[in-house]
Amino acid sequence: MMNELTKIKGIGPKYVSVLNKLDIYSINDLVTHYPFRYEFLNRTDLSSITEEDKVVIDGKIDSTPLSKTIRQGLNRMSFRLNCDSKMVGITIFNRNFLKKQLTIGTNIIVLGKYVKEKNTIIATDIKIGILQGGSKILPVYHCTSGITSKNLNSFINMTLLEYGNEIIDYIPEEFQKKYKLTNKKTCLNIVHNPTTKEKLKEAIDRLKYEELFEFMFKINYLKLKHKNELTGLNRKIDKDKINKFISNIGFELTQDQQKAIDVIINDLEAKPRMNRLLQGDVGSGKTIVSFVALFANFLSGYQGAMMAPTEILAQQHFDNLKEYLKKYDIKIQLLIGSIKSTEKKKIYQELETGKIDIIIGTHALIQDDVKYSNLGLVITDEQHRFGVHQRANLQNKGFMPDVLYMSATPIPRTYALTLFGDMDVTNIREIPKGRQKVETIIKDNKHIKDVLQMMYNELLNGHQIYVIAPLVEENENTELVNVYQLKEKMITAFNNKYEIDIVHGKMKSKDKERTMAAFKIGNIKILISTTVVEVGVDVPNATCIVIFNADRFGLSTLHQLRGRVGRGNSKSTCILISDSDTKRLEIMQNEYDGFKISEEDFKLRGHGDLFGTKQSGDMTFKIADVKQDYNILEKAKEDSLKYLEDKSNQEENIKNIIISSIENA
Ligand code: ADP
Ligand code: MG
Repeated sequence: MMNELTKIKGIGPKYVSVLNKLDIYSINDLVTHYPFRYEFLNRTDLSSITEEDKVVIDGKIDSTPLSKTIRQGLNRMSFRLNCDSKMVGITIFNRNFLKKQLTIGTNIIVLGKYVKEKNTIIATDIKIGILQGGSKILPVYHCTSGITSKNLNSFINMTLLEYGNEIIDYIPEEFQKKYKLTNKKTCLNIVHNPTTKEKLKEAIDRLKYEELFEFMFKINYLKLKHKNELTGLNRKIDKDKINKFISNIGFELTQDQQKAIDVIINDLEAKPRMNRLLQGDVGSGKTIVSFVALFANFLSGYQGAMMAPTEILAQQHFDNLKEYLKKYDIKIQLLIGSIKSTEKKKIYQELETGKIDIIIGTHALIQDDVKYSNLGLVITDEQHRFGVHQRANLQNKGFMPDVLYMSATPIPRTYALTLFGDMDVTNIREIPKGRQKVETIIKDNKHIKDVLQMMYNELLNGHQIYVIAPLVEENENTELVNVYQLKEKMITAFNNKYEIDIVHGKMKSKDKERTMAAFKIGNIKILISTTVVEVGVDVPNATCIVIFNADRFGLSTLHQLRGRVGRGNSKSTCILISDSDTKRLEIMQNEYDGFKISEEDFKLRGHGDLFGTKQSGDMTFKIADVKQDYNILEKAKEDSLKYLEDKSNQEENIKNIIISSIENA
């Protein structure tokens, strides 16, 4: 396959596949494969060194390197180095391949250990160059087998040299001038070959600003687009039928739920397209709100689609919705990746011809071959896992479908306003009546017997239990527990009296579903799992969750996990097992508000955990970090909006590039 990367000297098909492994597919990907850290080398003063110390020095090679094979696979090379008119011996092992470059007079930097009595350095690394002003900054890249930091750096430099002028700069001239920014090519050069800390910081900040500018431009673009679109669907919704449906759901809605429903119905009827984020803490009851929305959409004659981040969750929504709507003549269909392709084809057909009224599924719903007859509403559950491009793609599916996003991952308000700035936001803060606080207990491994006793009491009461482990498989490098180990432990502890099973992310989805279904109907008493049960799973009879190695999880994750219990009317418990970092875990004992917990987590750990995994679409910036760079983000938000609204602006080019990247998502 031809790839633009092969245009670069030294990169052939073999390197292309290695680079692909690093998610590098284009010239732009390559030059923005930023170092993840830098090594700061400072010249050591050899005269002040004590025996066997690590040193960094530079100098000119003074003698031709002599190499010697000591045994197979081990060779040694030695030569003299002239550093600042002082001679020092250099010895390095297994670097014969460098010999050609190490000619007399070449400037090199040597890292290694100084053996004073022999006036020799046992080098661990040799680099061509000098320590300018006594120091050097070395970029260190994420690598994979088949490529080194050094390879990457030289490919990048080659690329910058030849194609540096073709790289698109997303910062419009007006802001380049305003902030007196250095041009992009220079900044890329600095970031990959820094000379001083000051220049490096300046270059990094500029690239961060650009990245955030482009991102906020998209958000603002979507926002303005929605604001100006008055071409949404025209519909009337029969409120009596809605109320009748609500009166049959078996519980009374909270005020916040009712309010959310009113707002959504209003959005559906109003001419502009709905673009709303429904945020609510775990257990606040977002699902039923979305079901009412789907029902209302059906009543007004349109198809509805609901997208969940996991198959387990899609299945759960499907089962629940079917149950709620069983008295109505509505065709509801599940579409997930594991469905046979012949079956899928039939589903696609029925979607296109309008036979299916409501479809529930995973990402499968936004694949290109999925076409709808008259899609009127799209709902995505656990929205934080979908990126801006996916959002845009989804909206481009129907004619003008209304869109509702739901998220249980509370994001600190300021960030939400920025990152979801293109949406209207509704919050459900009230927790349904009759719910009791989940008692949260911290235990160390020494007191595991107490934990087992508590679990036993729950089982005797006919309740079910989640047990969470951080790992699926054994890992030699850690002492973390895995699900299989725990299963054995639990079987022994409870004398094989209770059904125990496992569910984890690496299982086939069919098997996952079967296990989840069995847990749901109570055939499994103890479900051992990784964090796959983190989002959304709802089994009210489960009243206890035991989390091993709890210190390994972020507080937001723990909060989500804790939210799996306390869903019925019985008292529930969350047991955090940990031998360390209990101070942090204590926050969980006193705080039950997901928003506050996420703020704490944010302070302690940064956004990594808060926004779920790396998959979380938007949060994985290449150089910016939403938490650290919040000031730059704010600036980028303001500037991009100003730029977008400014009609007199000449640089349509940049606008068009960014816009087409989302319109064609
Ligand atoms: P989440 O907001 O975390 O998605 P769910 O929608 O899964 O929460 O709701 C959690 C549980 O609470 C479900 O079992 C649901 O049926 C129940 N529930 C929702 N709303 C109410 C309510 N107003 N009163 C009682 N139970 C409710
Ligand atoms: Mg949910």
